[in-house]
Formats: sequence, structure tokens, C-alpha cells
Amino acid sequence: MRAFFGIVVVLIVGVAVVSYTAAHRSGSISESVSTTEVEFELFDDINVAVPSRFGDLETWRRPVGPPRVGLQVGHWKREELPDELKRLRERGGGASGGGKAEWEINLAIAEETKEFLEAKGVIVDILPSTIPPAYWADVFIAIHADGNVNSEVSGFKVAAPHRDLTGRAGSLVDTLEAEYARSTGLRLDFNVTRNMRGYYAFNWRRYEHAVHPMTVAAILETGFLTSPVDQRVIVAQPRIAARGIADAVLKFLDV
Ligand SMILES: [Zn+2]
Repeated sequence: MRAFFGIVVVLIVGVAVVSYTAAHRSGSISESVSTTEVEFELFDDINVAVPSRFGDLETWRRPVGPPRVGLQVGHWKREELPDELKRLRERGGGASGGGKAEWEINLAIAEETKEFLEAKGVIVDILPSTIPPAYWADVFIAIHADGNVNSEVSGFKVAAPHRDLTGRAGSLVDTLEAEYARSTGLRLDFNVTRNMRGYYAFNWRRYEHAVHPMTVAAILETGFLTSPVDQRVIVAQPRIAARGIADAVLKFLDV
């Protein structure tokens, strides 16, 4: 009997140790999410109809003119965010690493991308944290960088809006994944979160300062600012990251 209890105790302790270790390991993943969590606002109204301010989207037609692309610099000028995004204005500072704040990295990549796209006749708007009300473009990309307490965590990831009325955001994401990987050589991080898909600038149901529902949108986490591997690209050579984004956009728009 005593031997039996001994075995049970050993089993219980064993299970506890194994689960603690597993929880601790997975901590590196959840921490990478929590560092940027405050920039997101989850959809909680997925089944609500399209707000009337957008009119009848069935009859919506693309405005006449050359291809237009919006590049949002994540966290840039967040102190200017309107009251409807007060929570992000107060807490959405973003990641830091390699001696830089995230918005500086995002801005450098966006500016280089703009140069590549303008050379091909694309009109580019560089946007700060605050999106103009019902902003429309053929393509909208929110540019961000990740952070993690573990400097070995690396890679980039792309996500489409949770709710996509254009039906084309998935294709934009696929193209960005392929072209960004090809240009940068960075690995694809598969930990796309619900938070990314519920990014506030996609949430035209709730916020006035969000994209128009007919804007094809994606969010790109360009790499980890806290990873020496990723820093070699996103901090030291933003042009390589920009090349990947621009190639993807040109391919997607067929320019
Ligand atoms: Zn960010």
C-alpha cells in the first residue's frame, strides 16, 4: 500500500513539473503578444450590419484615378489619437529594441516603401496612428514591429482583417508573406493573433477613424526589434524590408 502511495505521489509531482515547464515555455509566445496588445481592439460586433454612413456597398465603385496605397506607421504620433481611441493614445507605445522605438523603425520602412511605389506611378499616403475617417485606398498596410523578452524569438507575420468585405485581403496577405520572405530572408512566424485580425484601423464598424470597408487591408509585423537576427534587417537595412512590401503591393495591384 505504501509503495502504491509512493507511486501516486511521484506521478502527481511529475505531472506538475511537466505542466509548469510547458506553461513556462509557452510564456515566450504569449509575452510576444502582450507587448503589443494595447494597439488592438477586438471586434465584438461581428454580426452587426454595415453602418449607414457607408451607403449601399453593393453599388460602390472604385474612385477613378491611379492606384492608391496607404502605409500606416504603427504608433507614430499616437498622442494625436482621437477620444474614440483614448485607450491606445494612453497605452499604445509599441515595442522597442536595438536602441530604437518601434515607430521610428516603422517610419523608416514606410518611407522607403513609398519611394519604390511612387517610382511606379502609385500614389502613396503615409499615415500616422490616426486614420482619416473612412480612409479608402486600393491597399492599406499597417506597418509594425514586435518585441519579446526572449531575444531568440524572431520572424515576421501578416494578418488580414477579421471581417473583410472586399474578399481580397487573404490574397494580399499571401503575396506579402511570399515577397517579404523573399526580400528579407526572415522566417515566417505563425503566431498570428486574434488581436492582429481585430486591429483598430480595420474596425470601421466601431470607429470613425478606420479604413473604408472597401479598402483591402493587412497588418504586417516586420520582425522582432528584440531579435539580433531581425534587427539586421528592420533596424540596419529598412530598405530590404521596404523592397519586400513594395514588390508585394505591385504584384497584388498588377502594376
Ligand atoms: Zn506595433
